Amino acid sequence: MRICHTCAVEHTDDAQTCAICADERQWVPVGGQRWTTLDELSSEGHRVQLRELEPDLFGVTVEPTVGIGQQAHLVRTADGCLLWDVPGYVDASAVAGVREIGDVVAIAASHPHMYGLQVEWSHALGDVPVLVPEVDLAWVARPDPVVRPWSGTLDLLPGVTLAQVGGHFPGSAVTHWRHGAGGRGVLFGADTIQANPDRVSVTFMRSYPNRIPLSAAVVERVTTAVEVFEFDRLYDNFGRTIDSGARAIVRRSADRYMAWVRGDFDHLT
Ligand SMILES: [Zn+2]
Ligand SMILES: [Zn+2]
Repeated sequence: MRICHTCAVEHTDDAQTCAICADERQWVPVGGQRWTTLDELSSEGHRVQLRELEPDLFGVTVEPTVGIGQQAHLVRTADGCLLWDVPGYVDASAVAGVREIGDVVAIAASHPHMYGLQVEWSHALGDVPVLVPEVDLAWVARPDPVVRPWSGTLDLLPGVTLAQVGGHFPGSAVTHWRHGAGGRGVLFGADTIQANPDRVSVTFMRSYPNRIPLSAAVVERVTTAVEVFEFDRLYDNFGRTIDSGARAIVRRSADRYMAWVRGDFDHLT
């Protein structure tokens, strides 16, 4: 197994390029494709940190960061945990830390940029299923029997639902956690719906690093798809949180975005 240095997604040993980074939504360093290994990351001092964000929810990060530097989430229910988005590093103490919180019964990433070491994590946790939307299966660079396709909407655990809403990738998904935010509901928006630095708005992009927008029609489709859920708080995958009022903020942000890409505000430019 080798790990892309830029996105921290696992590949087979014979991989030559990272298709995820070569795609227009990501980027390859000026010097070309770089690979790393778990041993190398370990000797560089990377470690997994677990942080309680609210009752039954933990942020999972690698410090110092690897790859894209996401914050993964561990959602705990009475029937086990979901590991949502996957760190690009794992070791024995990370596995012990996660096991102390609960039994992981499924691993799911919002989209290929967040695959991290999903198969490696699965093996370390006893071959738990790695759920990948069927339309995005071709992005899995380390095929393994633990990978299970899904599509549409998946009631995974009590109060935890995965929804493939598309946009950023055809399989881009969100997770709805009904019991989160004190019962007001949480949406894990990831790159599907990303929180903005102002923390009172969100955005939707085909590419974040290369700044490629989506159309008004797609933004409306994604927004309508998440409006079937009740949620007050939104976590993206970089530690940015819309603490409350998130459902209305998603709608307001979508309306603003659609107005801009439609040209309603061209007189201001
Ligand atoms: Zn990559
Ligand atoms: Zn992404």
